[in-house]
Amino acid sequence: MQILPYHFEGEVVRGFGRGGKELGCPTANMDDTVIENLPDGLKVGVYYGKATFKGNTYSMAMSVGWNPQYHNEKKTVEVHLIDYAGGDFYGKRLSAVIVGYIRDMRSFASLEELKTAIAKDIEIARRGTTEQGKL
Ligand code: ADP
Ligand code: MG
Repeated sequence: MQILPYHFEGEVVRGFGRGGKELGCPTANMDDTVIENLPDGLKVGVYYGKATFKGNTYSMAMSVGWNPQYHNEKKTVEVHLIDYAGGDFYGKRLSAVIVGYIRDMRSFASLEELKTAIAKDIEIARRGTTEQGKL
């Protein structure tokens, strides 16, 4: 059974406020219901898709992963809206479709390497496909 595209809708909650904005990549953390309802076969990693928020639809890069702060027990789903230039939207609802898988989650040797990886993720998410040649 094909898992993707997969639709979810939920509330944007507060994360630790670490990293995201400083990296130029804030991520809207989704509430626990979204995390609990993820299909079993959806592996951790970075994905691309589309997210609709307040009636506007954006390309998104998103992650499904484990937060080490919770001793690897707490999975997070985090959505970066590409080209969204508004302010914070904690507590608001967001509806999204995960379209495709980009890469596994991993740690990077430096902040610069992480930033480079995120920039590539965003480029793939903008294209909306992984099938148009390598970056
Ligand atoms: P947190 O740890 O609370 O998730 P982040 O640094 O990841 O903090 O910032 C996420 C918050 O930033 C989102 O919940 C949202 O309110 C806001 N935000 C602003 N621009 C964006 C964007 N383009 N994509 C996602 N969230 C954004
Ligand atoms: Mg976040």
